[in-house]
Amino acid sequence: MRYLRYLLYLMLLLGIAISSSVSAQDSGPIYIVQSGDSLYSIAQRFGTTIEELATVNNIIDPSIIGPGFKMIIPGFNDVSGELELKEVGFGENLFSISQYYGIGIHSLARLNRILHPGRLYIGQFVILSTNEEDPNSFLVELSRPGESRLEYAARNALNPWALENIEGVLNRSWIYPGESLIMFTDEGSRQFLPAPIRAVEIKPLRVLQGQTLSVRIEQADPASISGAIGEWDLHFNQLQSQDSVALQGIHAMAEPGLYDLRIEWTEQSNEEMRFNFSQPLRVASGEYWFDPVLYVPPETIETRFTQPENELIASIVGQNSDLRYWDGVFDFPSLNTASFPSYFGVRRNYNDTGYTTYHSGLDLFGGMGMAITAPAKGKVVFTGSLDVRGNATFVDHGWGIISGYLHQAEINVSVGDVVEKGEIIGLVGNSGRVTGPHLHWEIWVGGVPVDPLQWTSIVFP
Ligand SMILES: [Zn+2]
Repeated sequence: MRYLRYLLYLMLLLGIAISSSVSAQDSGPIYIVQSGDSLYSIAQRFGTTIEELATVNNIIDPSIIGPGFKMIIPGFNDVSGELELKEVGFGENLFSISQYYGIGIHSLARLNRILHPGRLYIGQFVILSTNEEDPNSFLVELSRPGESRLEYAARNALNPWALENIEGVLNRSWIYPGESLIMFTDEGSRQFLPAPIRAVEIKPLRVLQGQTLSVRIEQADPASISGAIGEWDLHFNQLQSQDSVALQGIHAMAEPGLYDLRIEWTEQSNEEMRFNFSQPLRVASGEYWFDPVLYVPPETIETRFTQPENELIASIVGQNSDLRYWDGVFDFPSLNTASFPSYFGVRRNYNDTGYTTYHSGLDLFGGMGMAITAPAKGKVVFTGSLDVRGNATFVDHGWGIISGYLHQAEINVSVGDVVEKGEIIGLVGNSGRVTGPHLHWEIWVGGVPVDPLQWTSIVFP
């Protein structure tokens, strides 16, 4: 049956190829087939049809198409060379990419089926032609008489940095209105941020609900930086180099979609030197599972019961201390890490009232009295006995990173203690609202709970 379908498909292609081989094309952008591609997926990506692809490429036998096969993409007469995928970086927009790669902005938009040029998001893949002769040149229109720098920059969607470079190269006072010139940027430079900012690293580029986002700015001069991702403010801390980094948790139940990443940068020695950027960043679903409905005594989920404890926790995990204690990845806080009774982010429904909440930590198995060890160096900022969380300890690792250890049998540390990685801080128990002994481990980043597993595998910052 499958074979028959394939044969019919082949006949269809053959028929088209024979009937219209006269229109085979020898110019146009070239796409190199990647593994996983099919004629159908390629046609979809470039807004064409299987028939058209077969025709312009004289494809009679589709089975010859495999990874590495070079194929002309029809419908883009003004684009040539090989097409490649590029990830959009912070500070880049459709205009800057179009200028940098020498592709007309309309072709670029059409090639990528972009309807809203202002909404290119960080980490998005755009398809480009790599035929450019000089990838480091810009073609820009010069200013009009009486036009201010700001008006000029706005008209050309340039930032002040780009403007300064144009003037530097030009170095002449006379310019024809509407004159174009080539602007050279630094060798290999691929970013469109002002010169004092060398790079902006977003980690990970594909952010999921419940994960930690790291924004690192490499800069030439010390600067005051503020910013936000959606509704969450970013707190920048300085590394030993002059680089600054902000870590922020993305809420496990944040609506998947585009969130504006905003950064305001002001040079410390010259407040006139300031920049402001905003670009969307995509937050994708964490694909969290749904737990079966959990039945607990009704009064334990009432607001008057849970709110005071939640407010207390919020005041603990909302701290942002300047001193960084941790270094490298976090260890697990107990030895039993072969499997976990419950993962972070799992959707929860208490007493069949709807999946309005989620699991804010990672549960670890552990017999009564098993040792709990500090996963990283930090300072104890809370110990106490709570109704829902039981015997609880919170450790501040600095820079807004705070970890919690709940339902303990015994707490072995006091507020103010600085604990080293691997030091015993308590014993596993079943205090608070639990069904059996286990350790509930939380990590909060910028006041938002995140998946602790990410911290056991990725080095932040
Ligand atoms: Zn738990």
